[in-house]
Amino acid sequence: ASWIGAFVTSVEDGRSPAAANGKHAERFSGQLVLVTGAGSGIGQATALAFAEAGARVVAVDRDAEAAARTAESSRLMGASAAWAETADVSDEQTMEKLAEKVTLEYGVVDVLVNNAGIGLSGSFFDTTPEDWRKVLDVNVWGVIHGCRLFGGRMAERGQGGHIVNVASAAAYQPSRALPAYSTSKAAVLMLSECLRAELAGQGIGVTAVCPGIVNTAITSTAHFAGVDAQEETRLQQRAARLYGLRNYPPEKVAAAILRAVVRDEAVVPVTPEARGARVLSRLAPGV
Ligand code: NAD
Repeated sequence: ASWIGAFVTSVEDGRSPAAANGKHAERFSGQLVLVTGAGSGIGQATALAFAEAGARVVAVDRDAEAAARTAESSRLMGASAAWAETADVSDEQTMEKLAEKVTLEYGVVDVLVNNAGIGLSGSFFDTTPEDWRKVLDVNVWGVIHGCRLFGGRMAERGQGGHIVNVASAAAYQPSRALPAYSTSKAAVLMLSECLRAELAGQGIGVTAVCPGIVNTAITSTAHFAGVDAQEETRLQQRAARLYGLRNYPPEKVAAAILRAVVRDEAVVPVTPEARGARVLSRLAPGV
């Protein structure tokens, strides 16, 4: 079982998302944008895309050096300011301290991107309670803490804002290979939709972004015990043959995130197979 393998069953709908970064130049000028998991992959690309659009960027990651690199690159990309903060999103006290510090020193966050997440593969009965806790702590509690602490301050301020939660196509695509991960992402999708309903009318939009397979560290062999490099390559090739899934860059997910904020979209499947699976899940839920 592997990450790629779990998605190979999904359906390609043939469309490809338009790159949109350039379109939002200066759109976020001066706005305070906080991205969790900004040290790598989708979070890094998102921080840089907001930087390019003129935002003030707070790059949060549990990996201090990675966060610092993203903040540095954000400055080079044109951010009006950029800071690095080290935090484990699953830790409530750390997140409370982070929210206090950010509010005091940089202001109330205008756009929050809860992106930090971890992968976990393995069948239901191969997944230990400890593994379940780990994935739910980061992927679900991390998003809850972010929404409560930063979204709460946004609502109190009363001047609107936007929250983007990075879920996954796994949220609506049942899989034998990723039960814990998929469950965590289904929770992220639903909590985003509930919060969107709650914040409607306060000028705060909430978006759940649901990528399929994207080229980042999370999809690499290192994250999945039991899948060796040869197996990974084989599955990558199979996925590429079937759906042309290879090389979907995190920058395209970042572009979709910026677009979703500008358009205030509710649920955004990104990558062709994620869009196909979304359509299927609505036509024939559970199949
Ligand atoms: P990645 O591993 O490249 O990046 C994740 C980043 O989050 C890393 O910098 C890591 O240090 C950080 N992080 C992990 N746990 C953290 C924690 N507890 N506190 C703070 N930071 C933490 O992975 P990615 O592919 O860029 O994943 C980003 C998000 O996108 C995740 O939520 C993931 O589930 C989701 N996603 C990814 C894919 C994909 O194919 N890559 C598909 C669907 C959804």
